[in-house]
Amino acid sequence: MTETTHRYPDITMLIDGRRRGTDGRETIDVENPSTRAIVGRVPRAEAQDIDDALAAAGRAAESWRETSPHRRASILMRAAELLRERREPIAVAMTLENGKPYGDSLGEVDYTADIIDSLATEAPRAYGVVLPGAADEGRTMVVSEPVGPVAAFTPWNYPLTVPGRKVAAALAAGCTVVIKPAEETPASAVALADALVDAGLPDGVLNVLFGDPAQISETLIASPVIRKVSFTGSIGVGKHLARLAGDAAKPVMLELGGHAPVLVFDDVDVEDVVQQALGAKLHNTGQSCGSPVRFYVHASIHDRFVARFGELLAATRTGDGFDADNGMGPLANGRRFAAMAPFVDDAVSRGATLVTGGSGDDSAGYYWPPTLLADVPDDALVMRDEPFGPIAVTSVFTDEDDVVARANSLPYGLAAYVFTKDADRALRLPRRLDVGMVSVNRFGVGARDTFFGGRKESGFGSEGGPEAVQEYLVKKLIAQG
Ligand code: NAD
Repeated sequence: MTETTHRYPDITMLIDGRRRGTDGRETIDVENPSTRAIVGRVPRAEAQDIDDALAAAGRAAESWRETSPHRRASILMRAAELLRERREPIAVAMTLENGKPYGDSLGEVDYTADIIDSLATEAPRAYGVVLPGAADEGRTMVVSEPVGPVAAFTPWNYPLTVPGRKVAAALAAGCTVVIKPAEETPASAVALADALVDAGLPDGVLNVLFGDPAQISETLIASPVIRKVSFTGSIGVGKHLARLAGDAAKPVMLELGGHAPVLVFDDVDVEDVVQQALGAKLHNTGQSCGSPVRFYVHASIHDRFVARFGELLAATRTGDGFDADNGMGPLANGRRFAAMAPFVDDAVSRGATLVTGGSGDDSAGYYWPPTLLADVPDDALVMRDEPFGPIAVTSVFTDEDDVVARANSLPYGLAAYVFTKDADRALRLPRRLDVGMVSVNRFGVGARDTFFGGRKESGFGSEGGPEAVQEYLVKKLIAQG
């Protein structure tokens, strides 16, 4: 397939059930990271657009919270069905705007639909409690209610899944939403909004804005209409938004960066772990919050692990996501491309061995090759800051206590991975790792029905499972005489 056969949709905002497009507004270009061609334009919200979105979310809040949870669930499930029906055009747009392999884009549409279904089933389960008392003491109840209109901000790495799960959890709970998805990947979020509108979502329940992130977030978070802030993205922006929410005394839910350690013990099948590591590291060109980064490999197998991992990484073809022979797409934007070389240069200057990759070419797309750095010292930049790209690093260990301490030493606390055949260790290690999610003998964290979230500077709250819907509910005590 070539880009000329692919259509990128017109991008519009959604305010009070009506689309507002690029006519008469300033615009932002959407760049295809595989070619650097401009494929679309995003309207830039004006102050009036932001005010109108807030007013709409405020107006719709009362009727939406009073809408039967089963009705809310059925709208969400119909939207999930529409996403499945439209999977191909949505995946084409996603690969054009993000660069990820077309097969992965299709998978993201399917996975998002499954997550929306899962969150929809939680809508009727906002249980409360009734406390027993004597007949003349009346009744005491604690009920769950929707927190109110939500301001949501989502990034470009999973341009459908992240908005999909945030919006579905809030809508299931009975909240209205104003969302500002990433301007780099707007079509996926517009496809989500289209599916919800076509499924029967009432006007004003979901409002979509694009534009200047700082202007939109400052206005939304300060507005008395907004009662909760939800953000997925970088730690720096997350802290900034949490400060804005703090000034307005509003609750925040944050899903921020990660720097996942991988503990590979000496009893594993090295070939199996390396094969799994290859897929996990290169997925989404390493631009996942749960991407494995720090491979702590037992001294007795380290060199074998590095040789084989390097061989497989070097053999991976990088290129346009529409060519099925390519194992990995480009980085999603120029900012990520520019961030890669300093990680490699710093590590090499501190004595690390560059096994493969290490320099990219952005002349016709943001291509950075799979990169492996071995024996990287703990003080290297890449050992402390999230590379958010296709860079893996290794370091030798011999002692379990020591490697656990090193794994836990960073301010990040999102995901960690353990590989061992020792059953005691497989039970013990997950308890010792100070992260929100641990996988043993496999990569990948989170499933469609489960908690998904981090600790420390990686954030707090859950993006998945029943807990995700709880994020958008608040308790109320009702005492009756
Ligand atoms: P960034 O912090 O500049 O932007 C991240 C997202 O936040 C973007 O969608 C952007 O539009 C939005 N944003 C930026 N400033 C904002 C503001 N003032 N108000 C509201 N939204 C704002 O980072 P980036 O260059 O796009 O990505 C790089 C880093 O972001 C990575 O190193 C990674 O740590 C992190 N990231 C994490 C995730 C995740 O899933 N947790 C996803 C994407 C990026």
